Amino acid sequence: MKFLKILGSQKKIKAGKIICLAQNYYKHAKEMNSTLPKLPYFFLKPTTALIPEGGTILLPPISKCVHHEIELFLVVKKKGKNIPLQKADEYILGFGILFDITARDIQKEGKKSARSFGISKSFDTFAPISDISPLEVVGGCNAAQNLELKLKTNNELRQHSNTKFMIYKIDELIEFLSKIMTLERGDIISTGTPEGVSEIKEGDILHGEIEKLGSLTVDVKRLVI
Ligand code: MG
Repeated sequence: MKFLKILGSQKKIKAGKIICLAQNYYKHAKEMNSTLPKLPYFFLKPTTALIPEGGTILLPPISKCVHHEIELFLVVKKKGKNIPLQKADEYILGFGILFDITARDIQKEGKKSARSFGISKSFDTFAPISDISPLEVVGGCNAAQNLELKLKTNNELRQHSNTKFMIYKIDELIEFLSKIMTLERGDIISTGTPEGVSEIKEGDILHGEIEKLGSLTVDVKRLVI
């Protein structure tokens, strides 16, 4: 069982399911040579992938090319189904930074045969996550829709964009996803990555920042079995 911390409070919240959006920034879809989905496209990550600030991403031996992706996530505040987008803020506890770590070589092989993202996204440690900045501090989902994101590897800027470039906005994602599945307190919705994804290697330090949400730093090691 994994817990998330809420900034400025002693409270912890049990992490629920992790729903990750794919191809939700035009320039990232383009760099992946993907056609844009007609509906929001998502996959699920296991909670066993979560690691906190200061944790270590472990590169699995079966992948030769693992990538970083910085994303804004939101945490669900209360149970909801068929939530209209006008009520999205009522269901958000807060926001933070998630790295959607991806075994890109395995994902590419899967795409050729129309297989899912299951293997490439699900390894242990493939979801570094920051503490949660409460909704009241950030200012609601409209405010979260205009924040600068940056990811540096060993101090070199790799990703730099703004959440305003999301194709499907945060309130639209809550409306869409809650038509499919019941959202529950502690569920994490990660909203997709902008362009600039690139390979990570053993010894790298990844440092992500999202305006108003603070930062997230983790390192990288190769998993030795
Ligand atoms: Mg992603």
